[in-house]
Amino acid sequence: MNSARILLELQATDKELATLRLKYHKVSSNLKSEGGLPSLREHAEKARIGELEARLESAKLESESALLRERLAALEERLYSGAITNVRELTAIETEHASAKRELSQIEEAIDPSQLAAEEAREAREVRQAELEDAERSWSKSELQLRREQRRLGLQCMAMDKERQAAASSIPAEDLSLYNSLLVRKGGIAVVRVERGVCQGCRVKLPLRELSRIRTARGLVSCSSCSRILLGE
Ligand SMILES: [Zn+2]
Repeated sequence: MNSARILLELQATDKELATLRLKYHKVSSNLKSEGGLPSLREHAEKARIGELEARLESAKLESESALLRERLAALEERLYSGAITNVRELTAIETEHASAKRELSQIEEAIDPSQLAAEEAREAREVRQAELEDAERSWSKSELQLRREQRRLGLQCMAMDKERQAAASSIPAEDLSLYNSLLVRKGGIAVVRVERGVCQGCRVKLPLRELSRIRTARGLVSCSSCSRILLGE
């Protein structure tokens, strides 16, 4: 078999190998992305912190309102005990009482919305949590399949690569390096057949001189138009 014919077979193997490698990389990158789990984990964590903050805010308002109530009760006791007779002192306590009352009503107004917000945050956290658990369950199944697929493709690639190396070993080094560089430059097609005197790579009709050179030359003949290696009829 001449080099051009072996190279044509090598080209078919290389094409298959490239497809296999692409599949392998696709499976590998799917495995790496973990079915989108990292971003779902991030969302669930944000929702967890959001709920915690909302509950803290609500609890803070509750405790502030309890403290204010105690303060108001103490002020009221002093105001109505009849023990204070000094007008200035009485006025000062009344002012303090009024301001504490205003503050309390502001806080009390904020309590309901804060409880609502905490409830909403809890619901949001539950939704995110369930989403994450669903995704984790389905990922554990597909991960297993993907690992098997990755292994199968990896073994196939290795076997085919070995086959390729064996086929390539019978080709002179310079022919092989010409083939390899054409493969890169010519979109994966380095060797083409000649059919009815036409190069099947570029569809140009070859001059008779070139056609006879394909038949008689000992080495490889390249198309004068597209530079691909020609395999005669
Ligand atoms: Zn050509």
